[in-house]
Parts: sequence; structure tokens; C-alpha cells
Amino acid sequence: MVRAKEEFAAISTGNTGTNRVVELVCGSLGPALGNGFDRSVLEEGVRNGVAVVDWVLDNVQPGDSEFGEALALRLGLPWEEDPVVDEGDFEKLKRTCPPTVGIKYRALPVRGQFTESGDVRSLTLATYDPLASFDRVMVRRALDCPIEWVVAPRRRVRAGLQKLYGVGGHILDDLIANREWDSDDFDFKEKVNVIDESDEEATVVNFVNSILNEALNQRATDIHIEPLAHDLRVRYRIDGLLRVISVPENIKKLQTSVIARLKLMAGLDIAEKRKPQDGRIALRVGGEPIDTRVATIPGIEGESISLRLLGQEQFNIEKLEMFPYLRKDVDDILAKPNGIVLVTGPTGCGKSTSLFCFLSVLNSDDTKVVTIEDPVENRLAGALQIAVRPEIGLTFASGLRSILRGDPNVVMVGEIRDVETAEIAVQAALTGHLVFSTLHTNDSVGGITRLADMGVEPFLIAAAVRAFIAQRLVRKLCVSCRQPADYSPDYLRLVGFAPHGMENVYKANEDGCESCGHTGYRGRTAVYELFRVSEPVQELVVAGASKQDLMRQAMLDGFVNMREYGWQKVREGVTTIEEVVSSTEVG
Ligand SMILES: [Zn+2]
Repeated sequence: MVRAKEEFAAISTGNTGTNRVVELVCGSLGPALGNGFDRSVLEEGVRNGVAVVDWVLDNVQPGDSEFGEALALRLGLPWEEDPVVDEGDFEKLKRTCPPTVGIKYRALPVRGQFTESGDVRSLTLATYDPLASFDRVMVRRALDCPIEWVVAPRRRVRAGLQKLYGVGGHILDDLIANREWDSDDFDFKEKVNVIDESDEEATVVNFVNSILNEALNQRATDIHIEPLAHDLRVRYRIDGLLRVISVPENIKKLQTSVIARLKLMAGLDIAEKRKPQDGRIALRVGGEPIDTRVATIPGIEGESISLRLLGQEQFNIEKLEMFPYLRKDVDDILAKPNGIVLVTGPTGCGKSTSLFCFLSVLNSDDTKVVTIEDPVENRLAGALQIAVRPEIGLTFASGLRSILRGDPNVVMVGEIRDVETAEIAVQAALTGHLVFSTLHTNDSVGGITRLADMGVEPFLIAAAVRAFIAQRLVRKLCVSCRQPADYSPDYLRLVGFAPHGMENVYKANEDGCESCGHTGYRGRTAVYELFRVSEPVQELVVAGASKQDLMRQAMLDGFVNMREYGWQKVREGVTTIEEVVSSTEVG
């Protein structure tokens, strides 16, 4: 152990040769190293000053914890699997070890001893890279107090730093320290914005990039940046729910520059602050384009800005994870040359994702796919996509009419809101086109009433529509931390869940885990019901039958409602009873 301490001291002062570092790393990796590992690559890297631990974790990919613990053991340093920052001392820790030190040198202040007046006596810092001797020297110089180092897993140190300092904390701190920037310095010509994490330049640009980067890391679909009276709030929408993201406290001071930067990136007029504006940013992350739609809204506390990150998803019908019986019905409909398929449900229930997955099946060299949307949010390579523009008279109805003159095979209309659009869609279906659209109704059978209420003749509905598909989104359980569920028979009876086949029924872990961001859920999936307009249903529609009669026939045709579909997802351990109940509220 004494020898190990000396080794650490030697590394700390930078007196260790390349070989020693390589020895240490290889020794710690042990059998995890495998045969494919080329030691000379590591030696070369060490000579060129790569961050060895990061390099190994990224390239050799040993377990974060296993490797860290072995390294700590060899160096005689304490290992902490889960270093928890003392929340009561957040402020003192941040003051003692500012983000310019903590984030820059990847040193997480975990706890400290303080005098009554709040001065620091000693500090415990967690690092995941005990081999970064230069960093530790710099930390010691910057902090000027006794330091105890512990080694912890990289992901824990990173998460701790972000929680303590907020996203982009160090950048902001640098900025406030030497405020000599001017918003006119921003690069106006920038068209494609490359996010590069390694860029160390301390500017608002970097701060904004941190926010965007982190959003992508966390699989966010939207970012909201909202000025409040004493704060600038940043929220991400992840799996459909908004989450407040911790950002540095003093960000409020830079709110105007942050908003201005985003407006510039989106090609908006930064001088115009009283009117709402829309724009786009073409981001590029790791070579992948991420289209971002930007909207500003003037408020009394200043302009707020929201960003929608598009193109995050690839459309593939398999991703809808439909049960085979439903998938068969869908496949049958997609194989037909004509007819209308209507997807129903409230805003944000995943209708357009389903539609694009359907279209992706049909989209091929020998099929012409045209869409008219408000606005175009998702791109489908090879399809002709048109955005409605009411100000120049391009509406769903007029757009659809001109699309049909262009001889398409498959048409997608964003939404049917009026009888004019509905009737053109019906005509299109009856003249040999496959038409997809959405309707704003709660359940599938309600779609018939909705169309009839708009003024579409029942015999046309019966002749043209193949199916109504209603859907809702439910959150998927995090498979890393879900827990076996135990419900009272009374509760199950209340929600209508038959108490058999409970082996795979789980509930969410309230504390969650790392992989689900401590929410217990990760990702979402849809629950569906498909109401097929069968021949008997056609007759009932023409006869003006009631909803009850239609439903009775649907049952005979094998209809399964959304809640039942959801129960099957519960029995497979995909989601929870609570999710299904809340998303398929009856009525
Ligand atoms: Zn989890």
C-alpha cells in the first residue's frame, strides 16, 4: 500500500514515465483487456498526451466501475462507487471549488469540512481519472486547501458535476469573469452549426451548444428557454414530460445573449423582440443532421424560445411494437391500392409517428408518396412533402386537390378538419389512391360520427374508409429498475384488470436508476385500437346505425379496445397499469 501511495504521488507530480502509466492501465484492466488490445496504441497515446482513462473507457470499454476500482486499488486511493454530493453544503462546495475548477479538471467536490464562518478546512474531491497528474496539480493550486482524492466511476462524476454546477456551468463562469464579449461578434454566416464538445472557447456560443448537446444526450424532443422574473428556466421534454434542467444561477444575466444567439442560429431578426418569429437551425451532431424548429414568443419577462429537435427518429414500422394481430390488420390495409386510413387521438399521442411508419413501408422507387402537412416536421426521403400556407391560399383542401393532379399513389394529409378536405380525400380514395390522415376524436369508432358531423355522406364514408386507428402513448418501464408489482384485488377490479397472469406485471421504481434518469421509465410506446370498416360495418354506417350498434359489430369482427391492448402490454412487463389507466381514461 505504501508503494502504491508513492506511485500515486509520483504520478501526481508528473514524474511517471509513459511505461509506468501503461503498466498501471494494463494491470488494472487485467483479463478484461482481451487479446485484441494493442498496447502500442496506448503507449503512443500517452506520449501524445491523450487523457488515458477517457481513452480506455471509450475505446477498450471496460466497465466504468470495474476499471475505476482496479485503478484506485493499484494506486492505493479510496474507491467510491456512488459518491453523493452533500446537498446541505452545495453552496459552500460550489464557492470553495468553482465550476472553472470542478468542471474543467473533472473534479467533483463531494464533501468538505468547514469552519463555523464557512471557510474550508479540507475538501474531498472525486475524480474518475487519477492518472491526470497535471489536472490535480492545477486543482491544488487553484483551491489552496487540503484535498483528499477519491476515485469514482466516470458516469457518476459527470452526473455529479452537472447536478452541482448545471449544464454548461464552467463556460458561463469564465464568461462572467471576463465579460468582454459583444453580441455582434457572433458569426452571422454560420449556416450549419457543428456541435463540438472539445471546443474550449468560452462564449455564449458554447453555453448554447452545451444546452443543445445535453438535450440530445438526454433524448429530449423539445427545449424551452423561458425568462422568469428572477431566473432563466431551461426545460427539456423527454418522453413527453417536461423536466427542469439545472443551469448556472447567474445565467439570468446573459439571458439576452443566449436568446440572441439562438435567434441568430435560426436566421431570425434579433432586433425584433415584440413579435413571435419562426425559424430553423440545421444542427449536425456526429455527422448526423438534426433539424431544429425554433419559435420565439415575446412575454412580459422577455422573449422565450422553444426548440423542437426533429429527425431524431428513424421511421420503421417495427418500432411501433404492434401486437401481431394488429400488425396483420395494418399490413393488409397497407397492401391495398386505395382507401382511407384515419388515425385518431388528441395532440401529442404519436399519430404522425405511426403515419410516417406506415408511409415508410410504402415509400419506394415505384410508388409516389406525397404529403401535405402543417408544418412539415418529419422528413421522408424520396417523398414529396408540402407545407400548408394559408396566407397564399395553400390549405389542406387546395393542396390536396393539386397533389391529385400530380398522379401520386399514396397521399398523406396532415389533418382532416373540414368537409371540403374530407370530400377530396374520399374522392381520392375512390379514384385509386391510398390516403392517410388524422382526425381529432378520442376513440376509433367516434371517427365515423366525426366525419358524418362534418357533413360527409355516410355512403361515402362506408365506401372510402378502410379503418380508423385510435392511439395513445404510454411510458415504457425502465427494464433496469422495474419492480414486481403487487396490487390489491379491489384496485384491479376497479380498473378492470383481470387478476391472472401477474408474473410479468411490474411497476416503476420510484427512485429510478441511472439509465432512466431516476424516473423509473424510459421511452414510450403506443397502445392502439383498430376499427375495421368491414362489410357489415359498411351496411350499418349507410343505415345510420348508432355507435353502440357499430361497436357490437366491431366486437364480432374481433375489435380490441385501447385499454385491453394496454393490459397486454402490462402483462408483458412493458408498461404499468397506472400508465394505461391514465392514458386511456374512459369518457
Ligand atoms: Zn431505471
